Amino acid sequence: MITIYWHCFEPTASDEDEKLVNGTLNKLAQHLKAEPVKLSIRIKRLRDEAKLARKVDETLDRLNEQSYTFNICEATIAYDFSIAKLIGETYAAKLLVYCSQDSKIAAAAQRKAPHAIWGAAGTFLAAVYSLNNKSAIFHEALHLLGADDCYIEDKPSQKKADCNFEHCIMDYKPPEKWCENWPFICDKNIDLIR
Ligand SMILES: [Zn+2]
Ligand SMILES: [Zn+2]
Repeated sequence: MITIYWHCFEPTASDEDEKLVNGTLNKLAQHLKAEPVKLSIRIKRLRDEAKLARKVDETLDRLNEQSYTFNICEATIAYDFSIAKLIGETYAAKLLVYCSQDSKIAAAAQRKAPHAIWGAAGTFLAAVYSLNNKSAIFHEALHLLGADDCYIEDKPSQKKADCNFEHCIMDYKPPEKWCENWPFICDKNIDLIR
C-alpha cells in the first residue's frame, strides 16, 4: 500500500483549492487501482497529521533561503515522515504540495529545473504550482509513483523515443483533456509504476 499525502502550503489556500487537489488525486487513485496498473494506493490530507504538517510547514518555509534547495527540503521532509512512520505508520508515503506560482517552493523547484514551469518532483516530494491544473497534479503525482518524463529535458518539445502513446500525461505540458481517458500514460510508465 502506498499513500500520497497532499498539502496546500499557502495560508491563503481556500476550501476550493483543497477540494480540487483532494478530488483530483482521488480520481487518479481510482484509475490506478483499476487495470492495467492495479496499484494499492490511498490519498490522505497532511493536515490530518497535525504535528507532521507543522514540521513540514517549517521546512517549506526555509526555502526562502537561497542555499536551502528543493533536494535538501525533500530529504528533510522524507526524514520527518520516516520518524512519524516509526511511531505508528507502516506504509510507504509520499507528499504532493500544492502552492501558487509565486511561492518559494516554485522558486526553489525552478532553481533546480528551469524547464519545470508547472510543477516538479523528486522521488518523495512533488510540488504543483500551477493552480487549477489537473494534468499537472496527475503528472507530478505519477512521478512520485515512479513514472518518468516522456520528453527530452533540454528540448521539451521533443518526445522520447520510448513513449508509445501520443497523449501521454508524462509529456511536457499535457493539456487537461488528456486526463479524461484512462490509461493516459504509455506502456513504459505503466511498467514503472506497477
Ligand atoms: Zn515531469
Ligand atoms: Zn509516455
